[in-house]
Amino acid sequence: MEKHKGDDFSGYVEVRGARTHNLKNVDLLVPRDALVVFTGVSGSGKSSLAFGTLYAEAQRRYLESVSPYARRLFNQMSVPEVDQIHGLPPAVALQQGRGAANTRSTVGSVTTISNLLRMLYSRAGNYPDGLGIIYAEGFSSNTPEGACPECHGLGKVYSVTEDSMVPDASLSIRERAIAAWPTAWGGQNQRDILTSMGYDVDVPWKDLPQQTRDWILFTEEQPEVPVYPGLSLKETQKAILQKRQPDYMGTFTSARRHVMHTFANSQSAQMKKRAAQYMLSVRCPLCEGKKLRAASLLVKVAGLDIAEISSLPLARLLEIANVLAYQSDPSRDPIQDGKCVVTFRIANELIARLQVIQDLGLGYLALDRSTPTLSPGELQRLRLATQVQSHLFGVVYVLDEPSAGLHPADTRALMNALQKLRVAGNTVFVVEHEIDVIAQADWIVDVGPAAGESGGEILYSGPADGLKNVPTSLTAKYLYQKSPLAQGQRKPKGWLKLAVVQTNNLKDVEASFPIGVFTAVSGVSGSGKSSLVSRALVQLMREYLGSPAEVEHDDATEEVLHSAEELPVEGKIISGQELITRLVVVDQKPIGRTPRSNLATYTGLFDYVRSLFAKTSLAKSRKYDAGRFSFNVAKGRCPHCKGEGQVMVELLFLPSVYSPCPACGGSRYNAETLQVRYRDKDISEILKMSVDEAWAFFEGEDVIRDSLQVIREVGLGYLRLGQSATELSGGEAQRIKLATELQGKQRGSTLYVLDEPTTGLHPSDVERLLLQLNRLVDAGHTVVVVEHDMDVLAQCDWIIDMGPGAGNEGGTIVAQGKPEDILKASGSKTAPYLKSRMA
Ligand code: ADP
Ligand code: ADP
Ligand code: ZN
Ligand code: ZN
Repeated sequence: MEKHKGDDFSGYVEVRGARTHNLKNVDLLVPRDALVVFTGVSGSGKSSLAFGTLYAEAQRRYLESVSPYARRLFNQMSVPEVDQIHGLPPAVALQQGRGAANTRSTVGSVTTISNLLRMLYSRAGNYPDGLGIIYAEGFSSNTPEGACPECHGLGKVYSVTEDSMVPDASLSIRERAIAAWPTAWGGQNQRDILTSMGYDVDVPWKDLPQQTRDWILFTEEQPEVPVYPGLSLKETQKAILQKRQPDYMGTFTSARRHVMHTFANSQSAQMKKRAAQYMLSVRCPLCEGKKLRAASLLVKVAGLDIAEISSLPLARLLEIANVLAYQSDPSRDPIQDGKCVVTFRIANELIARLQVIQDLGLGYLALDRSTPTLSPGELQRLRLATQVQSHLFGVVYVLDEPSAGLHPADTRALMNALQKLRVAGNTVFVVEHEIDVIAQADWIVDVGPAAGESGGEILYSGPADGLKNVPTSLTAKYLYQKSPLAQGQRKPKGWLKLAVVQTNNLKDVEASFPIGVFTAVSGVSGSGKSSLVSRALVQLMREYLGSPAEVEHDDATEEVLHSAEELPVEGKIISGQELITRLVVVDQKPIGRTPRSNLATYTGLFDYVRSLFAKTSLAKSRKYDAGRFSFNVAKGRCPHCKGEGQVMVELLFLPSVYSPCPACGGSRYNAETLQVRYRDKDISEILKMSVDEAWAFFEGEDVIRDSLQVIREVGLGYLRLGQSATELSGGEAQRIKLATELQGKQRGSTLYVLDEPTTGLHPSDVERLLLQLNRLVDAGHTVVVVEHDMDVLAQCDWIIDMGPGAGNEGGTIVAQGKPEDILKASGSKTAPYLKSRMA
């Protein structure tokens, strides 16, 4: 397009020469004040355009305008590769949380509704006689004024018990009855100290007097005694009487002191994690879990204290706010006191905010729900609801897949919220795969034609209905085609029956999962799908199979604590469990949180590659083994970044960022290691290859090729081998896990459980995923997925539809059967949508 001097860019955003990631020097012109949807197959470059270029540039400009200090820091961050962008308004990104989870953050705090409530309680609450006014902070558990002094506002206290620290009381102290004590020398030391103090460390723990046991486990005293390692109890007593020179003086530390001290003070995540194993969290005895000081809890609104009101579903809170607004309405009662004025104002503000949340299908949440327990989609929609009420205008909002986790019945409300932002004078950019969302866009930008190197071009940019005339667009193909019903559905080999499951909102559910077939569990968001599948089914099967919950990440302390307090599932398996020998949960959690973990290492592929390098003649002559080619081992890696290829830059008010290592230029290895070449590539060049490139490169190496092939088949051929875990989306991580699972030997009869595997997938990628899942079923395994995607539902063997509504209005099974049976079920919110997608 020709550009003229003095062009007014207020009407549109123009991008010239974008080359971020795989973008091929593209130009783009999109209208402002419109809902623009970016589409294309996974990996085509939608996010690189919407987030990597447009949002990143808006962010950079904003920071530059703020301060030179921020600008200096920003120089180290990645700058979008683009020639020019005109007409770009300031941007707000509503990305699905890959960030760190803050356990103190709640629905109330992210929506800021808690602030309003605190003001309401402070200024318009009912105070008992004699209680002076409490300021708003006094109703927050995050302030010293408000927090319960016993639990510091956590509502729970961590403690240890005899059972938690001594799992097997038939062991003696020498046999390590006190499991919570340090291992190795530290534990031996404590044992020798006890011997010096006259305790018998060779009798079973349970035979020691209770008083002795309590002292050893719980005392705060730290006596110092002479230690004679290797001597028996008798010999030690004699040595002490004779005042013989001890080896050293040792200090006793009780098991509780050790655990609590390690947990609070250790720098090592490993040690913290170990300590956490012996800790239990219990409800705080002082505030009974309400987190606040006693005085604050005496103040009531609508007969409830602030903790009680915060635990109600938001839909119920909305009802209360309506009543409050009615009662304090000045048009009804013109003689108003100050309290009434405040109540009226705050109640109306509450109504406005709660209504948006309710409209977005989240009325089942409560203010005190902690955000780490929300799905990324729920969190994003909460943030969206907050923005809709923020009265900002002239901003561009950038969102990734806001429909994730949403039943099509809930998508309309989502579109309304997005349109509200637009009508208020904002521009909305959305990266989406959901056909219903795409169809309602004002403007579509389709990126493609395929992924990675084969993508990065703009196939179409224009009003929604023009896309159908673009023959190269895969999006167009799926947008206008219907799904066929699955042919020749498979017969179950048996049934796995669960009964009386009460988890979260489930109401005495009896669920039967067919074995040896492909089942989808559907229902509106909040209806209880995850509670049934990801919690109840998984937990009960884990208990049956006796496998401990797998902890995948290295910094899993939080998780250990969480699982300690996670309530057991109330329910049992009635029958069918003997038909399953193994359980595999393929979730969307990251496959690692540091750049050390990547596609090649996670899948095990890198081990083969490294041994190929070790077999080259140069490596042999220098005696380099396979370990030399690992960036996790000191001998071969770059000493400056310790093999990370990047160094972390801490920013004061922003999340820290990684920037390339100045010493190795991001290659991760030292110069000597890089001299070794296999088929004329060094090891860092291999890591830079995409899976597709590597597949061509390793011709003749069947083991490597086979595992690359599976990754290609799940639609990830565009990923680079060295792409770090931190750069993968949840959906990509899930498919890598699936691929790893597929290439392994599939022993026995496995139950595979997946929670929304199609998140982040273009319909053409969904087709490939289905192929993989069907392969597992054809090999005799059982697959259960939680899904919203109607194409998946249409093609599975069996559907369990939950509902009818969300939260308290859900929690039951409303229909189950083959897809064609669901179509006929009355009361199923899924049926009409399934029908509309089927041919
Ligand atoms: P989409 O949003 O369409 O799924 P992306 O824009 O995320 O696609 O990715 C386009 C290409 O850029 C892919 O080949 C992907 O592997 C690559 N890519 C994505 N993020 C990064 C990154 N941080 N660094 C380098 N390459 C990346
Ligand atoms: P779905 O998977 O169908 O979206 P969920 O099973 O996640 O539904 O949620 C069902 C109900 O249980 C909702 O009311 C939700 O708020 C509640 N819920 C889910 N997870 C938790 C949790 N960790 N703590 C408290 N309530 C929860
Ligand atoms: Zn407390
Ligand atoms: Zn380096």
